[in-house]
Amino acid sequence: LPSLVHLYFYTQNARSKVTPTFLLLGPSGAGKTSLASLLQKRSSNPEDSEADAALTRVSQVSSTVSLLLSPSIPLGSNKYRSENDAHLKDKQPTPYVLIDTPGHGKLRLEAALSQIQNPGLRGVIFVVDSTVLDASDSSISRDTAVYLHDTLLAIQRRKAIAKTATKIPVLVAANKQDLFTALPTGAVRERLETEIERVRVSQSKGLGRVGEDTDADTEDDILGGGGEEKFSFKLMAEEYGINIDVLGGAVKGEEAGKGVRRWEEWIGGCL
Ligand code: GDP
Repeated sequence: LPSLVHLYFYTQNARSKVTPTFLLLGPSGAGKTSLASLLQKRSSNPEDSEADAALTRVSQVSSTVSLLLSPSIPLGSNKYRSENDAHLKDKQPTPYVLIDTPGHGKLRLEAALSQIQNPGLRGVIFVVDSTVLDASDSSISRDTAVYLHDTLLAIQRRKAIAKTATKIPVLVAANKQDLFTALPTGAVRERLETEIERVRVSQSKGLGRVGEDTDADTEDDILGGGGEEKFSFKLMAEEYGINIDVLGGAVKGEEAGKGVRRWEEWIGGCL
């Protein structure tokens, strides 16, 4: 009979075999497919070099891309180990998986947000087009905010269901920083926070209709909780332990690859 000790190591082992997974989200046209291709090129996996052609099609369903993170990128799990640590000298690339999802309205809710329950999920990369977030109240800017709002709410709920579940961090990749119409990263952050606050206000009004039971779950149904404080990414970290980083970069264009290493470092920090 297997002893408890065996069982313990068996489950530990099974757990560690789940390849760390990242979910690639964001509205259509933001640059998800381009980013997945670029990361694939940079993943220095010689066998994968022919695979990127397959990624340029418009995806209607989620596709999974196996990637390798360069050994030059520091890993979060190595943070407390000394530089002389033997296994750091091995310098093996770290495997991870990227799930690319369709960005269109109805499809994305099903395909993308259900992935937030994925047990191997280590982080969400939400790509935005930094040129569409001006204050002119465009539909694409609102669409981006609604999508990010829904994503954050799904992550908040995931945590609320399983209190011990790991907190899923979010990278907002402020893409297309090569274009002169792009908002700088700090402004992208502010615009998103302002737009998400609008979504949050209108949705919490909907939840709090007169005569409706205010059940205990209501707080978890509102992004950032039902408090008076305005929505901010900082609030998500304080209230729910969900860290959201906004980092600018460019996948294509004259400055193609700019900032991509920082995105990879963010990925490494989750590994
Ligand atoms: P997806 O719908 O999110 O997968 O977006 P795509 O990867 O298909 O990109 C949409 C369009 O934006 C394509 O024409 C890309 O060439 C372009 N694009 C993506 N990233 C950048 C960028 O950083 N800078 C510029 N100038 N164009 C980009």
